[in-house]
Amino acid sequence: MSKFLSPTLAAVTPYTPGEQPQDQQYIKLNTNESPYLPSPAVIAAVSEHEVEKLRLYSDPACADLLKAAAAHFGLQPEQIMPGNGSDENLFFALRAFCDADHPLAYADITYGCYGVWCGLMHIPSHIIPLKEDFTLDPKDYYGLNQTIVLANPNAPTGIALPRAEIEGILKANPNNVVIVDEAYVDFGGESCVPLIDQYENLLVVQTFSKSRQLAGARLGLAMGNAKLIADLNRVKFSLNPYNINRLTLKAGQAALEDTAYFDRTRAAIVDTRAWTKQQLEQRGFAVLDSRSNFLFASTDRKDGDTLYKELKKNGILVRHFDAPRIQNWLRITIGTPEQMQTFMETLDKIMEE
Ligand SMILES: *Cc1c(COP(=O)(O)O)cnc(C)c1O
Repeated sequence: MSKFLSPTLAAVTPYTPGEQPQDQQYIKLNTNESPYLPSPAVIAAVSEHEVEKLRLYSDPACADLLKAAAAHFGLQPEQIMPGNGSDENLFFALRAFCDADHPLAYADITYGCYGVWCGLMHIPSHIIPLKEDFTLDPKDYYGLNQTIVLANPNAPTGIALPRAEIEGILKANPNNVVIVDEAYVDFGGESCVPLIDQYENLLVVQTFSKSRQLAGARLGLAMGNAKLIADLNRVKFSLNPYNINRLTLKAGQAALEDTAYFDRTRAAIVDTRAWTKQQLEQRGFAVLDSRSNFLFASTDRKDGDTLYKELKKNGILVRHFDAPRIQNWLRITIGTPEQMQTFMETLDKIMEE
């Protein structure tokens, strides 16, 4: 770091994203991307004509995308805000609803960015441990008087809370925003979008990165009461009014409209997840009950770090986190059936060594 860096920023530990190696071809099961191509409708929408239009700014109101999203989710356009990835919407939400005197509550084992953003914006973190089995007790979140963020299904465990349990948390915190990060909801979770008209304190955040094949386009949607969305727009228009680029607006709209492709690809992931879980369990692995596009698994025959390194040597990337409670676990993204077959064969070879 330079001598010019502000001391408060020097104290922040940035998030470490999963590896995106450019040197060799890996089977990439480490960042929860989709193994499938974007819908053909997306590829058609990002036409040469649209590329030519890049000389013009994008629509700061994102009107066409909002119209498609409103129709898809049964909401009004004023209840939705697109972001440059759901990361940006989550950041905007923390900027809008938390500060030095208004902490953020979240689980000890969850998405790492929540804590990083708290550090960056001097927001106190109220970290609430999950139970021994990595499930969450909703009562731990009752009457907190703090903004809350829950990943549902959670990452990196994949465990989901039923909608009714989140409703309990919403009711028990009427004067605070409850952010539900639904990055993985399309793989078997229960979305809270149907609760939006009932709870003015509910903000749902979804992404196009995991279930819509657009991780590299950077697109997410925040959905909630129109007043909450106006608050997020206040942050956006104070920072970067053209936060979504033209090609991404087109791609996102086409992806939302191709519901058949969306349903087919997420169903394929759910099937492959079931097969992979069964295969791992046959080999004595502990595998959590995942409603996401990854499995969280461990074995007492090899520690997590060793297994991660040996898989990498054999051309397969998975995610290993060095946090105390989950050191022995691996997060394995669900790929195509062929990729998972290769994964199991490689694992068998490693376990025999
Ligand atoms: C992947 C992920 C995100 C970020 O998604 P982007 O839309 O790619 O920014 C947010 N929250 C969770 C829990 C995630 O797993």
